[in-house]
Amino acid sequence: MYNPKSHDADEFICHDEVLETLKYADENKNNIELIDEILEKAKLGKGLTHREASVLLACDNEEKNNEIFKLAEKIKKDYYGNRIVLFAPLYLSNYCVNGCVYCPYHAKNKHIPRKKLTQEEIKNEVIALQDMGHKRLAIESGEDPVNNPIEYILESIKTIYGIKHKNGAIRRVNVNIAATTVENYKKLHDAGIGTYILFQETYNKESYEKLHPTGPKHNYKYHTEAMDRAMQGGIDDVGLGVLFGLESYRYEFAALLMHAEHLEAVFGVGPHTISVPRIKKADDIDPETFDNGIDDDIFAKIVACIRISVPYTGMIISTRESEECRARMLHLGISQISGGSKTSVGGYFNPMPEKDDSAQFDVSDRRPLDAVLKWLMELGYLPSFCTACYGSGRTGDRFMEICKNQQIHNFCHPNAIMTLKEYLMDYASAETQKVGDDLIAREIDKIESEDVRNKVRENLKKIEDGERNFKF
Ligand code: SAM
Repeated sequence: MYNPKSHDADEFICHDEVLETLKYADENKNNIELIDEILEKAKLGKGLTHREASVLLACDNEEKNNEIFKLAEKIKKDYYGNRIVLFAPLYLSNYCVNGCVYCPYHAKNKHIPRKKLTQEEIKNEVIALQDMGHKRLAIESGEDPVNNPIEYILESIKTIYGIKHKNGAIRRVNVNIAATTVENYKKLHDAGIGTYILFQETYNKESYEKLHPTGPKHNYKYHTEAMDRAMQGGIDDVGLGVLFGLESYRYEFAALLMHAEHLEAVFGVGPHTISVPRIKKADDIDPETFDNGIDDDIFAKIVACIRISVPYTGMIISTRESEECRARMLHLGISQISGGSKTSVGGYFNPMPEKDDSAQFDVSDRRPLDAVLKWLMELGYLPSFCTACYGSGRTGDRFMEICKNQQIHNFCHPNAIMTLKEYLMDYASAETQKVGDDLIAREIDKIESEDVRNKVRENLKKIEDGERNFKF
């Protein structure tokens, strides 16, 4: 029944295979010989199968767990260096016809104000985001064919890409909207989106159906097979994720990796990103009512195990998590974070008080982007606003090839330095600018090729003189 090459969700996320995997992991969680073998394989940086990875996740031997964390850190460094890519979510509409029991946008919630941005309001939001320094957005919307049809999403994307304000420009629009048809994915592809992101929420079909009792999202197969349709529609980069807290984390972890294996087996390219959201308090949602919440230690183990299992897949952590938690997860494998986020519709142009009824969930990290940047740099990270791969057609399998050959540094490191310099010139506070310029001076010296080093120095000078958008 289990068949990673099948397009049928019940076959590529086979429930029995997940259960078998969990049994195998339990039986082997203290099998040091096997764990060592898996770790040796992981050190090659070519990833692990869902079964191997599940053994590592189940392992409760302290010494081996420390090795797992160390290896995750090493793989993170080897593949991503010290770069962290920044983005912000942009909520277009909270109209929604679904009944997701963990989400305050569920149709039965009558006391949250429903809002859908007009194109004029989108402009205001985007200008506010550009004035913070953002270059990369993830647009978010509830599912509502009448209020938020695909035409509305497409028009919004066009508006976003079209806004030129001072030195600002949104160069990559990722899209997180409900599962849709191949035809609509084609339209999104033609609109020039970056990654199509869709969280599975839970891979356990029975739980999924209970957690999504009404609306089109109730259809497990349609939702789970969405990434296949997205890729058939020409979208190269897809982003997976589960909402941790809804189901047993070990089930989700094994199934998530099975999903990645399926995409690789069928399309020759795995997911571009994996997000690791945890369920948070929201308007009429209390995370305590869900039985499968995970603490920070288990969360860290999951992040580390994903990192070593799919080294070439970026990992995203949002402002759902606190500063402390994000700091802990960054070095274990996270490569992208959001900053300065608002999860309410219209929240950037019209900042609301701390508690906003229209927010999708409570944000834990409320710092402005500038403070997040300074914090990252003080922790030794190189913040990046780079979107060059996307702009140069390095997406899907072409991107993966570069990433798998660890070529990513040759492009990403210099591009990160140049986009950070743009940020420092255009948006940073004096303090952040100082920290950033010191960091850039150190990072330039790390560039191996003398030619590239000289070119970067030349471009930094041009950025100081007002030119923008340099890339390798
Ligand atoms: N409506 C789209 C869909 O159905 O996939 C996606 C957009 S939704 C705005 C983005 C994600 O937020 C959801 O996929 C879900 O995982 C997450 N989310 C919903 N409620 C949440 C909560 N209470 N805490 C944390 N994340 C939540």
